[in-house]
Amino acid sequence: MKRREFLQTVTAAAVVPKLARQEPTNEWGSPVFDLHFHLRPQPAANLAHLDGVGITKANLLTRAGALDQVKALQAAAPGRFTWFSSYDVTKPDAEAVLTQAVKDGAQGFGEMKFHVAADGPELRRVYALAAELRVPILIHFQEVDHFPNEGTWATGYATTFESVLKAHPKTNFIGHADAFWANVSADYHNEAAYPTGPVKRGGVTDRWLAEHPNLFADMAANSGNNAMSRDPEFTAAFLERHQDKLLFGSDCSCSDGRGGGVSQSNNPAAARMAGKCVARETLGLLKRSASPEVFQKIVWGNLHRLLR
Ligand SMILES: [Zn+2]
Ligand SMILES: [Zn+2]
Repeated sequence: MKRREFLQTVTAAAVVPKLARQEPTNEWGSPVFDLHFHLRPQPAANLAHLDGVGITKANLLTRAGALDQVKALQAAAPGRFTWFSSYDVTKPDAEAVLTQAVKDGAQGFGEMKFHVAADGPELRRVYALAAELRVPILIHFQEVDHFPNEGTWATGYATTFESVLKAHPKTNFIGHADAFWANVSADYHNEAAYPTGPVKRGGVTDRWLAEHPNLFADMAANSGNNAMSRDPEFTAAFLERHQDKLLFGSDCSCSDGRGGGVSQSNNPAAARMAGKCVARETLGLLKRSASPEVFQKIVWGNLHRLLR
């Protein structure tokens, strides 16, 4: 056989089994659903990120007024986008606006990122509304500024949030961001946004995920990736232990799914993600750290179950 014919045969053999498979396959070996994807103004920019990473579906995090954009995107790429809606919880019409969003097709509240207490009255009424409308609520918890005067978000997580979990048993909470993930370790006291080093067992986030059926975890952003990068032994056991409660998300702002543009919105505290795609980094980390069955639950199955 001539060299050229040989190469053609090899190429054909490599391609045929791939095409013959029923499920469209990607480099992750599983379809992927990104819980935490902020809606981008240009429709094509949204799809560029999904396709660049190999993500099947994404849950758009939007603010009030984005309905037309969401509908246009859903029409352009049928089956690839669900959405959550957020609205300023300090405004008197918050409940009315969020209720309307669910009537319009939103499947959850989020990202809820506001300068209020996690157990304060502004968020409490939205927790109650989420239970009433049977939609999950995604909350950004952060106690340490990333830059001077940024302020903090949904504060008091480690000390007060268990009382919220108990008081709102019918609300499905999805925890996200710095304070949520730093508290996988029992020795965390709001020293740094993204603590490093081995995890001290018994942190509140780990404990509450085990004890409260209404708490789920969004693995997005540098916060989730950093927490799962500290201590491989802890990570493997954590993924196994909470395999039904963990949800893959990216919160990536890179342009192409390969780290182009800006990946963590220029957050100086998250410099470890500069030039990288957070989605790609976290999918790789999860794939290395979990069994194929657990990986598929975290990146695909669990979120579908929660959105039903
Ligand atoms: Zn956030
Ligand atoms: Zn990316």
